[in-house]
Amino acid sequence: MTSPDPQSLPFPSSPVAPEMMDGSRTIRFRCRPGIACWNACCSNIDISLTPVDILRLKHRLDLSSTEFLDRYTVPYELEKDGLAGVKLRPVDGGTACRFMTAAGCSVYEDRPTACRYYPVALLSMRHQDEYTDREAYALVKEPHCLGHDEPRSLTIDEYRAEQGVAEYDELGRGWRQLVLKKKSSGPTVGKPSKRSLQLFFMACYDVDRFRQFVASDGFSALFDLPDEELHETLLDDTKLRQFGFRFLRQVLFGEATIPLRADAAQARAQRAHEKAARLEREAAERAARDDGMYDEN
Ligand code: SF4
Ligand code: SF4
Repeated sequence: MTSPDPQSLPFPSSPVAPEMMDGSRTIRFRCRPGIACWNACCSNIDISLTPVDILRLKHRLDLSSTEFLDRYTVPYELEKDGLAGVKLRPVDGGTACRFMTAAGCSVYEDRPTACRYYPVALLSMRHQDEYTDREAYALVKEPHCLGHDEPRSLTIDEYRAEQGVAEYDELGRGWRQLVLKKKSSGPTVGKPSKRSLQLFFMACYDVDRFRQFVASDGFSALFDLPDEELHETLLDDTKLRQFGFRFLRQVLFGEATIPLRADAAQARAQRAHEKAARLEREAAERAARDDGMYDEN
């Protein structure tokens, strides 16, 4: 089972049919216990997880997000030298999903978004510098999956409703939009610092560590969030997740929606001023050295 890159269009050698479809398109598909290919899709996985998938699974397994990430996932690059993604880690020395059992998926009610959508792929696209994405779908046809031969037809919208993806789509939207904006902005917003990339990982995937970060004295010394809002955010995973996306828009794209404390803002401006002066001084020193070398020759 593969989860296609949310931004890439299908290509000729891909199992994703090279045709974009909308939700009203009728597909033929049924997955059922007893089908000859039962579990074939979960025996060779490449499943990207969204922040919502991690929340659901860590609650299901009664783990902290940090423990869940350590035990069940591997990081990967969503883009070269940039934002990180997280994939389900297969069984040791194999390719099968750790949640696969002979009876099927052991976390079925909380299975990840990609598993719910399969064999439909969600394609999100957006224009540069916009947050609003457009959604389209494609059909994934892998030779091992016999569900396409089953005598059942339904629209993609009906299939999405059956699989309960609407809630996942809604909660995952903030994350998808951040990733798409970063990918399509490219170098225009500069390369994020190592610290920004760490904050992205924590705010998107490691919700329990992000909670500690937001509750820390260091955070309150820098950001001026009303006490009530801070309290409500810390108590609710979903609110904390949405706050994380807002925080990341500020860190990555400079959208200043979380007020800085006046003294912290002043200290930050002073540091920026000192850094600019240092860079200017170093450039002048380099130019003077280069002139000297030129004179000696
Ligand atoms: S989470 Fe469940 S449905 Fe998804 S690959 Fe694993 S066993 Fe299969
Ligand atoms: S029909 Fe497709 S999705 Fe269902 S078990 Fe077989 S391979 Fe997996």
